[in-house]
Amino acid sequence: MKSTMQSTPLLISQLLRYGTTVHADQEVITWTPEGGRRMSYGEVGRKAAQLAHALRGIGITGDQRVATFMWNNAEHLISYLAIPSMGAVLHALNIRLFPEQLIYTATHAGNEAVIVDNTLAAPFAKLLAHLPKIHHVVVNGPIDDETRAALEAPEHVQAVVDFEEFVGGQPTTFDWPDDLDEDSASSMCYTSGTTGNPKGVVYSHRSNYLHAITDAMTLGVREGDRNLVVVPLFHANAWGFPYIVMLAGSSMIMPDRFLQAEPLARMIDELEVTTGAGVPTIWSELLRHLDAHPEIDSSACYRLMVGGSAAPPAMIRAYQERHGIEIIHGWGMTETSPVGSLAVPPARCEVGSEEYWSYREKQGRLLVGFQGRLMGPDGSQQPWDGEAVGELEVRGPWVTGSYYMNGTESETDKAEMAAKFSPDGWLRTGDVGLLTPDGFLQLTDRAKDVIKSGGEWISSVDLENAIMAHPKVREASVIGVPDDKWQERPLATVVPEEGAEVTAEELRDFLAEKVAKWQVPERWAFIPEVPKTSVGKFDKKVLRKQYADGGLE
Ligand code: ADP
Repeated sequence: MKSTMQSTPLLISQLLRYGTTVHADQEVITWTPEGGRRMSYGEVGRKAAQLAHALRGIGITGDQRVATFMWNNAEHLISYLAIPSMGAVLHALNIRLFPEQLIYTATHAGNEAVIVDNTLAAPFAKLLAHLPKIHHVVVNGPIDDETRAALEAPEHVQAVVDFEEFVGGQPTTFDWPDDLDEDSASSMCYTSGTTGNPKGVVYSHRSNYLHAITDAMTLGVREGDRNLVVVPLFHANAWGFPYIVMLAGSSMIMPDRFLQAEPLARMIDELEVTTGAGVPTIWSELLRHLDAHPEIDSSACYRLMVGGSAAPPAMIRAYQERHGIEIIHGWGMTETSPVGSLAVPPARCEVGSEEYWSYREKQGRLLVGFQGRLMGPDGSQQPWDGEAVGELEVRGPWVTGSYYMNGTESETDKAEMAAKFSPDGWLRTGDVGLLTPDGFLQLTDRAKDVIKSGGEWISSVDLENAIMAHPKVREASVIGVPDDKWQERPLATVVPEEGAEVTAEELRDFLAEKVAKWQVPERWAFIPEVPKTSVGKFDKKVLRKQYADGGLE
């Protein structure tokens, strides 16, 4: 029997229309050295319409890919809304990738036009000669003559235009097409790739719409919240924030290129930030800054979301106990839009109880509609009993079912992409962990980071969390290194707190109380900084290369 319900497509343009009219007085505030630059959502809606008209004018009439090469700012938000809503496809380039990876992703995606921040225009000019499909460059902000000349130099570039001039004079309303197929592409994002090239994921209007609603509801994003969005808009679909704020009616604080703890703390204080989103390394640095500067007023801030890699439990507790800020741990991947789980404890848990903390420290409860299963090493499904461990496989309306291919992929890439899906179509996350009967996910490691020592598995994340709980430790990253006797053993790289002296002996004693004796590393390296990936995660690939000889002196 067919339902009698109407079937209107779920489109990003609806979120844009809704957010910029019913929440017209909310605002996006972009940080500058002089303070916040404010733009109301009403204005965002008008600018989005103008951008869409201007893009139509340069031939973006269908599902062409329009790239951004930008920090988090108002114009990036406008692009996130306008490009998909007009029926084109947004590709937010990760500005921190190596040039060859950027050239690969922009070429592979087939980018035809690009919007670039003025502060990034010079590095982008170096890439442009290798991107012959790009015919227009829109620059957000003033640039000097030399940078302009560099952008104009390649023959395939028809025009380099200033963002304000590009949109200026265009009509401030746009007839957003509402007959688009909800399954059509809205945007794309590339994962960093482990061995082969980055892999492209293509989101749909429907996937983004459903992801934003479910995420906002579970996270409890409220009208009037002031979200400090530190997670870059080019990282994993911006964790859905450009769409979440439109439907929830909350403001966005955009740090632009000011991502250090000091300016972030100023934004929290001066702009009365209530919530935020970012990776653990950002929030750990901020914690240190807030601890050292009691004069900073962070009292408006009640919640920070953290994800992208495991958040150290010591940090989660410190925020709550010392600053009254709840850290909500989430898990996700570029392939899952990205949010798959959020650690909001069951209501029955008494705040501060051991049970409460155990839920807060997990990666979170799988969101409604987002299905997960654990697969053991023998391929059998493991129970959700809070004990059995396996690789997490997922499926759902905002999980990718394949990677974007354009026929130029190498055999290695094709094989890598195919291996990411089970025969019955579930996405293999590469993450290892357990599920509790009430649906909370706890990851022990990425499959490739697990340390296999004498037939037993050691979780690098457990060791890192335990070491980072030591007051003299700033950061710790643990990797498996080759060992003649045990096949692999853990090597702990440690960054001591500023001015602190800490020894391997001391840390070994500290660990002995927290983990099984045989797991305690005998190899230690004290380093000034843990290398980070393009999105601020510990870069274990670099460490593994550095200590390929086993790390014993
Ligand atoms: P990349 O592979 O480039 O890091 P993603 O940002 O898509 O790209 O990373 C997804 C991966 O990040 C997940 O598969 C998981 O290993 C890790 N991750 C994300 N959130 C968490 C978390 N809360 N705890 C532990 N690992 C996480």
